[in-house]
Amino acid sequence: MERGQVKKIQVLPKELVHKIAAGEVVERPVSVVKELVENSLDAGATKISVKLLRGGTEEILVEDNGVGIKASELSLALKRHATSKIVSLEDLETIHTLGFRGEALASIAHVSRFSLESATEESAPIAYGLKMQEGLLSQLYELPRERGTTVRVAELFCTTPARKKFLKRYETEWSHVFDLIQALALAYLDVSWELWHEGKLKFQCPATKDLKTRVIDVFGKDYGSQLYPFSEGLSELELEGFLGHPNFCKSNNRHFFVYINGRYLQDKLLNHAILQGYQSLLMQRQYPVVILKITLDPRQVDVNVHPAKREVRFANGQAIHSLISRAIQKRLKEAPWRQEVFNPISLEAEEALPLQMPRPSFQYSPSSTKQEGLAFKESRASYTQAAVQQELLPKPQVGTLSFLSLRVIGQLKQTYILAESEESLVLIDQHAAHERIGYEKLKAEFAMGRISSQRLLTPAAFHFSFSQAVRLKEASEALERLGIEIDEFGPSTFMLKAVPKLLAEANFEKLLEEVVEALEGYDRLDALEEHVDHLLATMACHRQIRAGQKLEQEEMQDLLRQLEGTPHGYHCPHGRPVMVDIPFRELEKSFKRVL
Ligand code: ADP
Ligand code: MG
Repeated sequence: MERGQVKKIQVLPKELVHKIAAGEVVERPVSVVKELVENSLDAGATKISVKLLRGGTEEILVEDNGVGIKASELSLALKRHATSKIVSLEDLETIHTLGFRGEALASIAHVSRFSLESATEESAPIAYGLKMQEGLLSQLYELPRERGTTVRVAELFCTTPARKKFLKRYETEWSHVFDLIQALALAYLDVSWELWHEGKLKFQCPATKDLKTRVIDVFGKDYGSQLYPFSEGLSELELEGFLGHPNFCKSNNRHFFVYINGRYLQDKLLNHAILQGYQSLLMQRQYPVVILKITLDPRQVDVNVHPAKREVRFANGQAIHSLISRAIQKRLKEAPWRQEVFNPISLEAEEALPLQMPRPSFQYSPSSTKQEGLAFKESRASYTQAAVQQELLPKPQVGTLSFLSLRVIGQLKQTYILAESEESLVLIDQHAAHERIGYEKLKAEFAMGRISSQRLLTPAAFHFSFSQAVRLKEASEALERLGIEIDEFGPSTFMLKAVPKLLAEANFEKLLEEVVEALEGYDRLDALEEHVDHLLATMACHRQIRAGQKLEQEEMQDLLRQLEGTPHGYHCPHGRPVMVDIPFRELEKSFKRVL
């Protein structure tokens, strides 16, 4: 209709209502697969098979061995708002099933050529089926089938050509389905999964009790070797899963596998909590791999807020956020890769502990994971040989590299400390190391209540823009807790009176400038705790040892001594690695001394 015309108000025909509603739930093939597979899971299936033609645009077939649907209820299942999963609002509050709106099948059936066939325990080996096309329902028909349900969705969006135009290349649609099935496979271990495309089996895994086994089935051993188990039982919620090594990074968060009570989510709050948990271990725009299963009282979470149920709302989101990020922080602080570097989850007993196994933790550089990953694969082949000889060799120390046991060889380009361990050449970025040490010390002092400061003999004056000055005034109390004392001195001039002891030799002008810049980026200054990590990292960056500074042997040894006792000693607070470790075996290979 033309805008500005007066027209009669009328109720839309049912057919049209169905198609409009379908638009919310069914965006593309992957949304259909999600709804159908969730129905199979709700039906208690232990075997689910998904078959697609042309990325699901031509056909989607989902078969399960769940409880099935009675013949008398088949047509009801295709009605909007018909569901077997809830009967009252209270049910919705304590929901244990994935579905509850009773609209998926109806919506899908109205935008495709659809069939639903199902056998229950009682009817098997006979199943009953129904077809729907252009909104018209067929007669009930009979066919042979074991217990379970088969849904076929052909020619998706044949009745809504506008929506069809939005489909991407079928390879793209297919890749979304692939990602979804992998994500669901990580959550439902008791199900054996099959995924087919164009008549070929693309992914398959048997039921298992063990998440670790499933991770390896889904992503392979190399991927598994970068993940470390994580579990935390809190009174409000339980967490379980795997945290990826901070260097094993992706450029987006598609490898965040987060589930609440078995529901796979892409929830902003939870994703943010994860990143916060990794905080200073990551470089900017780098995302770790995380598998996180959250179990909590269903009353604490509203799942009915998103059309595709990808996001949820928490009764107390802030609390959940901080519980999760703190639990992750705590686990990462243990630097599990240090203890388990010789025993990552992918290695079975018989191939664990070869002496020359490259340390995956240092093999990956965040910028070139792909290539490095390949290198890792190759070298794994070679250390299987080493494993054969390991009986003859001294057992490596689990717990691996200790900074204390390193022998300093010298300084390279006044930037790196060169050192040797029993098995490798080690390069340490002196600035990054010093920064990490300072950061952890500042953090410890802050946690104790206050960062100890040192008065300046002659206070220094600094000028700021008007808005900066306002921020500084607002923040002055908070800054005191960070060890920075300032006094107002004229409209936008401040005197710096004291600085943290640890930064006594810093360039104060730069330090203050950057702190003010950081303050400008925060919404609320009263919540200093939220930003303290970032602020401290900014401050630590101003410590005295920088690149290009000559260090004496004693100073270098001292730096290593301090690193030894420092949490997260392998990364600077901005996430860059502090050290690179090159196994002698790799060197020998480079010189062709060994193959
Ligand atoms: P919802 O899942 O929200 O209940 P759906 O439209 O997805 O709504 O499904 C409607 C009903 O059909 C379900 O409540 C369930 O009783 C039945 N159903 C759908 N798929 C299956 C299946 N694979 N196995 C058993 N029952 C199913
Ligand atoms: Mg459903």
